[in-house]
Amino acid sequence: MQGRAGYDERTHRSRAQCDGLRLYAQYSSLFFAHTMRYTTQFLLSALAAAQFPAPDAPEIAFLGRSNVGKSSLLNTLVGEKTAKVSQTPGRTRAINFFALLDESKRQKLVFADLPGYGYAKISKSISAGWPEFIEPYLAIRSALKLCVCLVDSNVPAQESDRQLIDWLRAAGRELVVVATKIDRLSGNQRTRNLLALRQGLELEEILPVSAKTGYGVKELWARIDAVGS
Ligand code: GDP
Repeated sequence: MQGRAGYDERTHRSRAQCDGLRLYAQYSSLFFAHTMRYTTQFLLSALAAAQFPAPDAPEIAFLGRSNVGKSSLLNTLVGEKTAKVSQTPGRTRAINFFALLDESKRQKLVFADLPGYGYAKISKSISAGWPEFIEPYLAIRSALKLCVCLVDSNVPAQESDRQLIDWLRAAGRELVVVATKIDRLSGNQRTRNLLALRQGLELEEILPVSAKTGYGVKELWARIDAVGS
């Protein structure tokens, strides 16, 4: 077996298997580093402004068209519970709030999972087709420190995404645009699509991520932690 290409003698695994395991270990340790630091607690589903939780901790809102991969990304960021709660029938039109608690059970951050948009084209107001309370939430919520806007890296820039991003900019909101499902693209396509999205949405920066492989999750956490500290 000595010297056989693509074969690791120590572990008796193919090189490809070893690379896969190394990647898994890297991403899972990164994932566990955060899940160990925070536990996630579902707070409530709000269907009106009166139901928003007390603004006790810096809030991060997650926004994106339906099917963009929001539940999957939240799942990768903080665990399954979040995605499951948000997809429960009756809660898909609500803002679902989750507290991220540190070891002494103090709220460090709040994640606000907003309903997916894009079935109906966004027009006139960004909240056309969205429940009425979403626009005021984005406009005046004092605890809201960062909007994470998700766009699909496999899909060209959409008018609805552009309108939302423009609206958030006009409202003076800090935002980071994340390109999801990046694992589906090869190197060249990746570069091409990310550039097209940056141009189409007029962005200085776009953060490629994959909920499937964990790519970019560390960088996204760094952005979230920066507003939380
Ligand atoms: P949501 O409607 O925005 O919550 O989207 P979901 O998280 O339910 O994802 C929609 C579809 O995209 C599902 O079939 C997911 O399996 C798939 N998906 C989500 N994230 C990824 C990813 O990072 N990579 C790949 N390959 N597929 C993904």
